[in-house]
Amino acid sequence: MSANTKTHRVVIVGGGAGGLALATRLGNRFKRKNQVEVTLVDQSRTHIWKPLLHEIAAGSLNPDKEGLDYLAQARWHGFRFCLGKMDGIDRQQKVIRVAPTLDEQGDVLVPRRDIAYDTLVIAVGSLTNDFGTEGVKEHAISLNTPAQASLFHHRLVNACVRASLQTDPMRPEQLHVTIIGAGATGVELAAELRNTTRELVAYGRESINPDQDIKLTIIEAGERVLPALPPALSANAMKLLHKMNVEILTGERVTRVTRTLVETASGKQVPSELVVWAAGVKAPAFLAELDGLEVNRINQLLVTPALQTTKDEDIFVLGDSAACPNGTGWVPPRAQAANQQARHMEQNFVRLMQGKPLQPFVYTDFGSLISLGKYSTVGSLMSSLSRKSLFVQGQFARLMYLFLYGKHKMALHGVCRTSMAAAGRLLTRRVEPHVKLH
Ligand SMILES: Cc1cc2nc3c(=O)[nH]c(=O)nc-3n(C[C@H](O)[C@H](O)[C@H](O)COP(=O)(O)OP(=O)(O)OC[C@H]3O[C@@H](n4cnc5c(N)ncnc54)[C@H](O)[C@@H]3O)c2cc1C
Repeated sequence: MSANTKTHRVVIVGGGAGGLALATRLGNRFKRKNQVEVTLVDQSRTHIWKPLLHEIAAGSLNPDKEGLDYLAQARWHGFRFCLGKMDGIDRQQKVIRVAPTLDEQGDVLVPRRDIAYDTLVIAVGSLTNDFGTEGVKEHAISLNTPAQASLFHHRLVNACVRASLQTDPMRPEQLHVTIIGAGATGVELAAELRNTTRELVAYGRESINPDQDIKLTIIEAGERVLPALPPALSANAMKLLHKMNVEILTGERVTRVTRTLVETASGKQVPSELVVWAAGVKAPAFLAELDGLEVNRINQLLVTPALQTTKDEDIFVLGDSAACPNGTGWVPPRAQAANQQARHMEQNFVRLMQGKPLQPFVYTDFGSLISLGKYSTVGSLMSSLSRKSLFVQGQFARLMYLFLYGKHKMALHGVCRTSMAAAGRLLTRRVEPHVKLH
């Protein structure tokens, strides 16, 4: 920390599950004091909680309504917001490099600039890892950003429009959606799609039979769906997916994606008009070139238990872009981990300002909940007494799932604003279609 600057400059890069919660907390805490200035840098203008991206892809959530404007959040909670994409750092000068932001015509909107920090927090999240599989970049969509999720939805709607007006017989790949990866994202997306495609065709596309014409397939390299969760939970999810007429291929590694099919190592060919890649994560590549900071093989920055980078104690990392030790393993890339780290970081920052030693972060796993759209929710919750996992399903699990997002919103807006927004949404849902139609 620099001892001679009057105002301590905290720069947080990435306004996602971890970074935005931290900027809001620090902004609230220090807004009436000149001691600390908090700046959030993000490449987007609005925040959408990443676990909702599959709902945008399926059309059950409208990103224009759900997005939170960073500028507004900054004004309400006492921090500054800078639009831009960080692409480098100078640790000696203590500045981050921010690339120019271009408008839709390619003209410079915000020029390249440096932003100075005393404490830097990197929270830029992760991207899907396609392991260099042939054809994925060209023919598959990943759910990394709201724009990608919206693009998938747009293509799905167009595919339905085309099929509903066509007089020729359907091509083998037509209206066939293949999802690669049966983790939480893949499973939740399949269930949500089954629901929304039924609604979608009800609005003027009645010539399509949603259950027969719209085929959904999940391909998973592991032996079961939801491989990271307890076997009982995955068996249950599998049963529910079968009921929804979702085809599941396990033990199949995808080797190639083309415009019309997905090929696996065993030689299977799955005709597909739309392909979603939802297998594996890695951190953004630029993190591996940050002025000597250490990364692991998936570009996550190595941090100490106090979330400081191993090479620079003024730089902290949280969320998916941190490789943070957790017992004998690592903290998993989850929203609940990013959120806990944001809270921990706030406490540690206060200690830092008081000249006290930093505390190690300890991750608490509260379990996992998988939403199967309106059909069900399944999950396992950690008992706080026995630390054993409890299997939950149905309405209770659904409520717990909604509670998780509610918690994130409450951290950003407080109880009053969150409740008013929820009431507003309930009212508008009564007068609008439940699925985005374009
Ligand atoms: C479809 C889906 C469903 C999920 N469901 C769950 C779930 O149910 N439960 C759960 O615990 N986790 C879930 N996750 C994982 C969870 O979303 C992530 O673990 C969590 O969002 C990570 O938080 P983060 O703060 O590290 O990054 P993110 O929330 O990803 O935020 C990163 C931010 O950094 C910004 N950014 C990126 N690069 C730059 C740059 N160079 N310069 C400036 N800004 C940059 C991005 O615009 C973004 O705002 C899900 C993920 C997906 C994709």
